[in-house]
Amino acid sequence: GMLVAANVEVDRSTACTIVEGFGKIPVSSLDGDDEYDDDDDEYDDDDDDFESSLETGYGLDFDEPDTLLPRAPVVTVMGHVDHGKTSLLDAIRQTAVTDGEAGGITQHIGAYQVNSAGNTFTFIDTPGHAAFSDMRSRGANITDIVILVVAADDSVKEQTEDSIRCARDAGVPIVVAINKCDLETADPSKVKTELTQYEILTEDLGGDVLVEEISAKTQAGIPQLLEKVRMQADLMDLKANPSRDAVGVVVEAKLEKGLGTVATVLVQKGTLKVGDAFIAGEASGKVRALLGDDGKTRFDSAAPSMPIKVVGFTGVPAAGDLFIVAEDEQLAKELADNRQRLAREASSTSYQSALMSNVADLIANGLEGRKVEKEMSVIIKADVQGSAEALARALSELTLEDDESQVVVKVLLSEVGDVTKNDVSVASVKDETSVIAFNVAANMAAMDEARTAGVDIQYFNIIYDAIESVESRMQEVLSPTP
Ligand code: GDP
Repeated sequence: GMLVAANVEVDRSTACTIVEGFGKIPVSSLDGDDEYDDDDDEYDDDDDDFESSLETGYGLDFDEPDTLLPRAPVVTVMGHVDHGKTSLLDAIRQTAVTDGEAGGITQHIGAYQVNSAGNTFTFIDTPGHAAFSDMRSRGANITDIVILVVAADDSVKEQTEDSIRCARDAGVPIVVAINKCDLETADPSKVKTELTQYEILTEDLGGDVLVEEISAKTQAGIPQLLEKVRMQADLMDLKANPSRDAVGVVVEAKLEKGLGTVATVLVQKGTLKVGDAFIAGEASGKVRALLGDDGKTRFDSAAPSMPIKVVGFTGVPAAGDLFIVAEDEQLAKELADNRQRLAREASSTSYQSALMSNVADLIANGLEGRKVEKEMSVIIKADVQGSAEALARALSELTLEDDESQVVVKVLLSEVGDVTKNDVSVASVKDETSVIAFNVAANMAAMDEARTAGVDIQYFNIIYDAIESVESRMQEVLSPTP
């Protein structure tokens, strides 16, 4: 058995569906009691209508606007090799440390937070576009702002161009840092002029791209650069709901002696607390400890935009994996096990490559102006592989929309065989997910479980009937009848 993506050539919407599905399955908001999350203008695009989630029980993930509070911008430094990305990250960290904050020896954890002039900034300290695109290819768009570093004694180079393209594709605004201005050969205006060829018109040339001339070496201009980043962030009105279960992204993970897997997680919304159960990619666990970037300071919790080291993993997640707080450890473990099975079974790269090329677009497009996306989920069991695939493909391509909202179908699982208790359990994780039995039966245990869990098993022997039934369900999700 396998997920649809494991054995079917997936198209864009399917790939997105799967990724989003992953991001949602275990969210404890399925209970719908304390969960107000999401918003309409941020990149985590699982927005929905909370009221209707209560009515339909579809576990919609939504944050009421009045639950949102300002959060620090998440910044990635990009640019050509040797133009000074690493030096800039170091300089920023040092400036901040000498700013008065408790310094101490910092460890490389993949991300850090600094305070400057009363503002907090989160930096991803793996510079370069490789890290950025790797993350994005896994569906994680954690960067709010890109600092594009260009050396003043050089020119716009290949990786400068790549970085510009990357940021643009992701819809992430750029702040330009013209570095090495301490050098005699520095010619910042030449660089700015060159940038105009890439449609980057800096403020001093009448454009709206903020720019600062700096020297990572002498630290000249660093506070001013941070001020520009803050201005850019203010324009973006970055917010998140801190009073919900946490959702974040794994920035880095490694095995550490005595601690097992330790991962740096960037919390995107909610507050992560010691004791929370979670799933992250194919790993799961329970937060045993939260450590700061010195690897020692313990925290009880981590708020939005805060990078934190999480101890308590079973398994090793990958950078870019979504990190989601789950209802309990057991559920998290089951889901992680399922994903492992999936990964083993994933015959090839078609799944990965579909994600790579398509998720990026989703994220870019998800940044603004989207309709409220509602969803329903299905689990498909069929007598033969061909039918399972055909149904999965057909159903995942269905969309229905009106002026405000759009309904999509998420195929959580598509495999050959009778409906089992496990299928029903997976369905029950997301409230009222339908199980579609195509030319197959459900065994007794499954039927019992379905009754107890209130899961709907629907039987079909004609593909068209199955599609029609899902379509009418979608209609119900789009505009619930009172
Ligand atoms: P990266 O490859 O973009 O991360 O660049 P690095 O930070 O490793 O810097 C490349 C080289 O440029 C190193 O030798 C740095 O010491 C030097 N460098 C970085 N920033 C400055 C600067 O502001 N002024 C001068 N003169 N040299 C710099």
